[in-house]
Amino acid sequence: MAYEPIWMNDSSKLNKFEFIKMEKDGLDVIRTIIDEYSQKGYDSIPEDDMNRFKWAGVYEQKPREGYFMMRIRINTGIMTAAQARALASIGRDYGRNLIDVTTRQAIQYHWLKVEDLPDIFNRLEEVGLYSYEACGDCPRTIVGNPLAGIDKDELIDTRAIVEEVNAFYLMNRDFSNLPRKYKMSITGNVYNNANAEINDLAFIPAVKAIDGEEVIGFHMFVGGGLSAKPHLAKELDVFVRPEDVLRVSIGVTTIFRDYGYREKRHQARLKFLVADWGPEKFRDKLVELVGDLPTKGESKTVGWNGIYYDGVYEQKQEGLHFIGLNVPVGRTNSEEFEQLADLAERYGDGTIRTTMSQNIILAGIPTEKLDEVLQAPVLERLSPKAKPFMSRTVSCTGNEFCNLAVVETKERARRVAEYLDEHIQLDEKIRIHFIGCPNACGQKHIADIGLQGALVKTPEGMVDAFDIAVGGVLGPDAQFNTALKGRVKGDDVAGVLAQLINFYKENRENGETFH
Ligand code: SF4
Repeated sequence: MAYEPIWMNDSSKLNKFEFIKMEKDGLDVIRTIIDEYSQKGYDSIPEDDMNRFKWAGVYEQKPREGYFMMRIRINTGIMTAAQARALASIGRDYGRNLIDVTTRQAIQYHWLKVEDLPDIFNRLEEVGLYSYEACGDCPRTIVGNPLAGIDKDELIDTRAIVEEVNAFYLMNRDFSNLPRKYKMSITGNVYNNANAEINDLAFIPAVKAIDGEEVIGFHMFVGGGLSAKPHLAKELDVFVRPEDVLRVSIGVTTIFRDYGYREKRHQARLKFLVADWGPEKFRDKLVELVGDLPTKGESKTVGWNGIYYDGVYEQKQEGLHFIGLNVPVGRTNSEEFEQLADLAERYGDGTIRTTMSQNIILAGIPTEKLDEVLQAPVLERLSPKAKPFMSRTVSCTGNEFCNLAVVETKERARRVAEYLDEHIQLDEKIRIHFIGCPNACGQKHIADIGLQGALVKTPEGMVDAFDIAVGGVLGPDAQFNTALKGRVKGDDVAGVLAQLINFYKENRENGETFH
């Protein structure tokens, strides 16, 4: 082991998962999957290693019958057409043709078998993609500006920084055993399009006059996260130069690794340490580790766009455009992925970009080619002009595949959005997020209307139901949504939301928005 952790000195304060990690590093399971489990099959996998599968980016899916889900890191959401084709081929050959876009810009498969994993790892590696550490107690997919490099609203192109940070952490055994998952975001976009406040560590654009010169760099937030106890990240009084992002991130990750809580797993995220220390103490410790940092400059974040780009937009490069496509509840398939790869290569800049709102962007389309691209058959379903509610509905995986889910979410979310589009005309788009349990992968807390799955007792027995919360927003006035009283049966959700939105429509005052 390259790094001897200081918390090992007091093993009486460790939860049982810590012993699993100490006994064998999570990353070591990748070799065991390739050499052993893929040969001997599902029944040969002991429980401890099943827990370590996350470090390979793989979880057991529901029902527990030998199938797995896998996440692929798409850092800052940008992939090449060749990578998209490789992803499509894996989905077709092993994943029953399902490809999900997650709320962290990753790609997710289902229905994989352990025997398939070595070939999938190889196919990914051949195109420079990895599932490794897309899950587990380690630095995960680095989210960021999906428009990096083409964005009129970016202060700085963050692609090289994300690349540098990703290259440092990926498979780095000094940081492969953190107290819990660890999520980073880096964006240069002034509309907070990487949801800074819900990340463990986030960089957002800022400027500061240093030695008489205006320097473009970042402000930083630490300790954000959702789940049952959601925390908005706290801003530190520092300004970070672009060349210092990696160094500063190492400082923050080191603090989390060495001082983060390992006693109770549900209190192990960085947010609990930040809440206890406060931003000043956290800053002092960071400076102790990485050296002095300038104090804050001027933030350049001017708002929050919910990370929605449906439609056609001009890029910062004259004569070029990007097209934002709706992926209904984040679910697509191999055929669509291949068609998108064809469009990206034939008409665009060869990239396909995923957003944290579970959608996709095609980039680099010249003005004279726009009409042709907009006529492409794949854009009938993955539409740049999706109906308002469908275009703003996000859903986690739910009990179709997720072992932690209390209820079904994805198909229900799609049906609810369809119903609202059929029954409600509104001059405003309302963001609706569904989650199947308190873990909040569908980021319910930041939605205009957030729905969290639960069960309710009826004369016919326990049935799916949802708790509803309203008014979530990020950006300068960030706040999580507020729970409404009561619980709504799953079958009644569409009708209740229609009543709620109609009530708003009939009673809103001039200039009032849903938020
Ligand atoms: Fe599963 Fe819960 Fe995450 Fe939904 S929010 S994918 S149900 S863990």
